[in-house]
Amino acid sequence: TPRDNHMPTDELRALDAAHHIHPFSDTAQMRARGARVITQAEGVWLTDSEGNRILDGMAGLWCVNIGYGRTELADVAARQMAQLPYYNTFFMTTHPPAVALSAKLAQIAPGDKNRVFYAGSGSEANETNIRLARHYWHLLGHPEKKTIIARKNGYHGSTMGAASLGGMAGMHAQGGMPIPDIVHIDQPHWWAEGGGMSPEEFGLARARQLEEMIDQLGEDKIAAFIAEPIQGAGGVIIPPETYWPEITRICREHHILLIADEVICGFGRTGHWFGTDYYDLDPDIMTIAKGLSSGYQPIGGSIVRESVAQVIEDGGEFNHGYTYSSHPVAAAVALENIRILEEEKVIDRVRSETAPYLQQKWASLADHPMVGEARMAGLMGALELTPEKASRAKFAEEGAVGLMTRERCFANGLVMRHVGDKMIISPPLVISKEEVDRLIELAWQSLDEGM
Ligand code: PLP
Repeated sequence: TPRDNHMPTDELRALDAAHHIHPFSDTAQMRARGARVITQAEGVWLTDSEGNRILDGMAGLWCVNIGYGRTELADVAARQMAQLPYYNTFFMTTHPPAVALSAKLAQIAPGDKNRVFYAGSGSEANETNIRLARHYWHLLGHPEKKTIIARKNGYHGSTMGAASLGGMAGMHAQGGMPIPDIVHIDQPHWWAEGGGMSPEEFGLARARQLEEMIDQLGEDKIAAFIAEPIQGAGGVIIPPETYWPEITRICREHHILLIADEVICGFGRTGHWFGTDYYDLDPDIMTIAKGLSSGYQPIGGSIVRESVAQVIEDGGEFNHGYTYSSHPVAAAVALENIRILEEEKVIDRVRSETAPYLQQKWASLADHPMVGEARMAGLMGALELTPEKASRAKFAEEGAVGLMTRERCFANGLVMRHVGDKMIISPPLVISKEEVDRLIELAWQSLDEGM
């Protein structure tokens, strides 16, 4: 059967092509070269059905923070499945994994972010956030405060609300997005869009677009601003230092909620628990998923400031919830994942050792003739590929070189993602120095082959 890892690769590919619709995949391209079949993984290494070992420079989809093969998580899941495989926290019930995880998240989240609402994914959590923010203002007597400001090129998920918050034109073009009352401002991408400005000037200018949008629409119409502390799927856009303090000022002065989408930045990616800690932000709501369970179970959520949650709680029943909100197995696995992150000081090690080491090596890729910029924060980074460094020119067919580079990386044994002609890296947090060296070697080799 296809569940058997020993089924021949060609047969797996044929069955896959016959019956499986893939997310974010070009089917014609995939069928031409055959889907890669990943069968197992350990640490930072994937193994495919043909026995190749591939260094996973993307931690899956920016999520396998503690690395593959942690059997403690499998043991916890098996125990929880045997004891209570499913129950929910609807209708005034609860269960121990939901209680324990909520208390733990309240402890590690900064300040007064003390309440958690669970979802099955980051997309669902952002759907919750749209409803939370609008319901909050409604309860406070401002039902007209419902517009949410987000950013071009931001990514917040694939469901209708979350994809509408996202600023991906290619997604909006399919399925009628954005939904009403969601608008977008520009991203703070200095390298590509900074013009003649210094990074500091540019950070301020881009932040002030938020104020311009609020002035244009009227503060009394705006519920919230949502953004990733560092934009991930948009191409690891690391904002200039001036950006976040100005955004924070604007949100406070204009009485709009700040939602930090921590789905990628959370759980150690920046060398801190959250991107919010990295930038010293004080959001009202934080979206979490991915690294919460290191991807071992599907789980997401919204961590909410106590005073905001109290308004919702005082408003009677919040008519919202998913069958898998606070799923006991997912919650137990997330808790075990957090225990390992803490006990093994994984995040401290990222901050003090791994990130400085990888960042220094990564920066050396800027010497490659095809690389216009090599940027990185914590353990998430991007290379800007360009045909001409001095002018920061773009390739004639956007994304073709990026795609080719990604394919070469994969053939050489390295997963890097491409976003247009940006090459992205976000390895498991447990990557060793030797593995970092190998990652850089493979990246050089793959770039060289494209010359
Ligand atoms: N928010 C951010 C910042 C993300 O990067 C993602 C996924 O990549 C999501 C939300 C959506 O999460 P999910 O794919 O779990 O629905």
